[in-house]
Amino acid sequence: MDHVRPPREALAALRPYDAKHLEAEVMLASNENPLNLPGEMLDRLSALAAEIPYNRYPDPMATRLREDIAQANGLDVGNVLIGNGGDELIFDLVLAWGGPGRVVLDFPPTFVMYSIDAQATGSTLESMPRRADFSIDGDALLERLERGGVDLVFIANPNNPTGTLVPETLLIDVLNATDALVVVDEAYFEFSRHTMRPHMSRHRNLAILRTFSKAFSLAALRAGYLLAHEEVISELTKVRQPYSVNRFTQAAARLVFRERPVFEAAISQLLRNRDVLIHGLSEIPGVEVFPSEANFVLFRVEHASAVWRDLLKEHSVLVRDFSRTPGLEDCLRVSVGTEHEMGRFLQAMDEIMSRRRASAHFGVAAPAARHGKGE
Ligand code: PMP
Repeated sequence: MDHVRPPREALAALRPYDAKHLEAEVMLASNENPLNLPGEMLDRLSALAAEIPYNRYPDPMATRLREDIAQANGLDVGNVLIGNGGDELIFDLVLAWGGPGRVVLDFPPTFVMYSIDAQATGSTLESMPRRADFSIDGDALLERLERGGVDLVFIANPNNPTGTLVPETLLIDVLNATDALVVVDEAYFEFSRHTMRPHMSRHRNLAILRTFSKAFSLAALRAGYLLAHEEVISELTKVRQPYSVNRFTQAAARLVFRERPVFEAAISQLLRNRDVLIHGLSEIPGVEVFPSEANFVLFRVEHASAVWRDLLKEHSVLVRDFSRTPGLEDCLRVSVGTEHEMGRFLQAMDEIMSRRRASAHFGVAAPAARHGKGE
């Protein structure tokens, strides 16, 4: 055949997730932990890698890892599901609770996989835009839930890319107002230290998503977990890929989880670096910086795309450009890195912004504007 028939019509409107996987000396675009695993853990991982029976399938349910996570959270193993990153669990949730004729609610600007997966599965996506300060309009949300018919709700807490936390009282009101499955995405829980875990026993419709990709320095291996009522977990096992979490990832995630106090010092340091970052950005004229409860900071700057390009091309600093996202016009997001990386980023911003001010003052275009169009 010299052609292939098109896929489902719904895909025509879909754009693939663009992770902007670019190389730079200072990588501040994906909210990863800037530090690799501690050397002693790397040694233990090498030993684990040497012992793996590579010819055998892994445990499809990652039972030992689930047991560790359940125990640490005061839950049963039946309340935990492991996925190939939080991303896979989001997809499983949409496969099971979304689909044609089912309504998925999200609150943009937010993590884009909720809407991509909703659209990919033919779900009806209802997006309730956040207010100018990135908070969720609680009245509008509760009103919508009371009208009924909502099947699945995604609330990132703290929200990516805005760094905003939802008041716990609103989350409880939401859980009371609907029998929809409410997913509170706590991918940045280790930084915000806020969790809805204590409310699980009273609310069967609460699911909590976490990841090993951020605080635990394991983004490369892809592991995330969901805490939920066992009925929810057992429904998800019907749609999930049985062997999606490989044997090495299971072992590595288990090692990291058991040793998680080791990460505490680095997390505290990152929170201090975040304060330095917010303070430094707020001192630069022309930059508006938003508060954050996570390991990244959103800021607004005129000609954001040009600033993004200057950071990369002239200073080898990679951040994430959100300036084309509705509600985030002229916004960039920078992940919290090491002290050295924060110094390089702030110095680069300072230089770029001073030059722009000087060019504006003398009435000539800033040199960066020559790089291209589409500011
Ligand atoms: N939820 C949120 C809010 C995120 O920001 C991310 C990562 N960008 C994820 C889930 C998924 O992370 P992972 O697939 O690496 O576990």
